[in-house]
Amino acid sequence: MDRFVARQGGGYLAFLPVCALMTEGLVVRMGTRHIGMNVLGGELAYISHAHTDHCAALGGPLPIFCSDVTADILGLKEAPAKKEEEKKIESPPPEAPPLAPDVKKSKRKRKSGAASSSSRFRGFSRFKRAAMGSLRVPLPEGVELHSAGHMLGSTQIAGASERWGRVAYTGDFKLRDGLTIKGAPMLTCDTLFAECTYGDPAVQFAHPQDVLADMERWGRQNREAIQLWGGYSTGKAQELVKFINDYLGETPVVGGRAAEVCEAYRRAGVKLEWKTPESPEGQEMMRAPFMAVMPPHQLTPILRARLETVHRRRALSAVATGWALVRHLPYSAAFPLSDHADFNEILEYAHASGAKQVILAHGDNERTAKALRAAGVNAVSIESLDVEQTTLKIEEGNGQ
Ligand SMILES: [Zn+2]
Repeated sequence: MDRFVARQGGGYLAFLPVCALMTEGLVVRMGTRHIGMNVLGGELAYISHAHTDHCAALGGPLPIFCSDVTADILGLKEAPAKKEEEKKIESPPPEAPPLAPDVKKSKRKRKSGAASSSSRFRGFSRFKRAAMGSLRVPLPEGVELHSAGHMLGSTQIAGASERWGRVAYTGDFKLRDGLTIKGAPMLTCDTLFAECTYGDPAVQFAHPQDVLADMERWGRQNREAIQLWGGYSTGKAQELVKFINDYLGETPVVGGRAAEVCEAYRRAGVKLEWKTPESPEGQEMMRAPFMAVMPPHQLTPILRARLETVHRRRALSAVATGWALVRHLPYSAAFPLSDHADFNEILEYAHASGAKQVILAHGDNERTAKALRAAGVNAVSIESLDVEQTTLKIEEGNGQ
């Protein structure tokens, strides 16, 4: 795979072929450090939130920084000897230069390490096993974290860069309030890196309270049925538990990783009520029409048919996701409750930030950039940055 590194005006930018989860990566020199933005790259890895597609650095050789809640969800431990770790950061070994980490080598290391100590990890979830190879370090100097409004613990990062001016990088974000987290603040900056998962101008999310009202209506109309609510175990499952608690007045059955993350939310002060399927209370609840929260891929027609046979009542499935606006989903009901910004929110942020340039990632980047340009924003896709780098170099060269 190709890799290139560009250096300009004391700032650094690198695209790194990291892993199947992240096909593109960004390393920015912010403050005094080269920071890998949700990738395994640079001197320090920043993890914006606990979704696996942003955790490429987890279990890798780089020290990681993130919010306290994200560290708790991921099971990250503080670096035991911070001073030693700081020394390592100041003097990276020659085989692992700051801008070109040997990703293949680090993957091999991780694999052999996991195999040799599997007994040590017995009893831990695979997420905590992954995190045990990583060390968490404090926020580097000159860097700020602000809420991203995406899930509990999600953050945006901001700081000064010689190359980009003041940078804000959103990670996954939304400006609307959720049930467990307030909408993100819009940061002022010179360069805004924004995610655009739902950056198609045709996708416009309704006000969350309107969607929640539809979900409540559906939930109440189908009280006599078993209701299986589908949501990704980290973030969306907890929003669904909160919805079922507060809007339907029920306690859902939640198991596995979703229950672990519910515990982390509770430790962070979010009031959630759920029972695990193994608990006596959960077993008792499942004798009546019950509600459960589980990963969407488990909501199969086979599962519903089995439940209907065993419990002799209807079993329905429902999901809450922005994809409900984009394509047909094979469930009894699909509600467009998203944890991402839509195009109008990206546009609002672009204007409010005062950014001189906006760089789009994690979506159909060029389409969103084009639509933003049509609205008067100087926007480009992250893939076009090689061209931008060249252009800037020529312009700066001419100016000298
Ligand atoms: Zn996410």
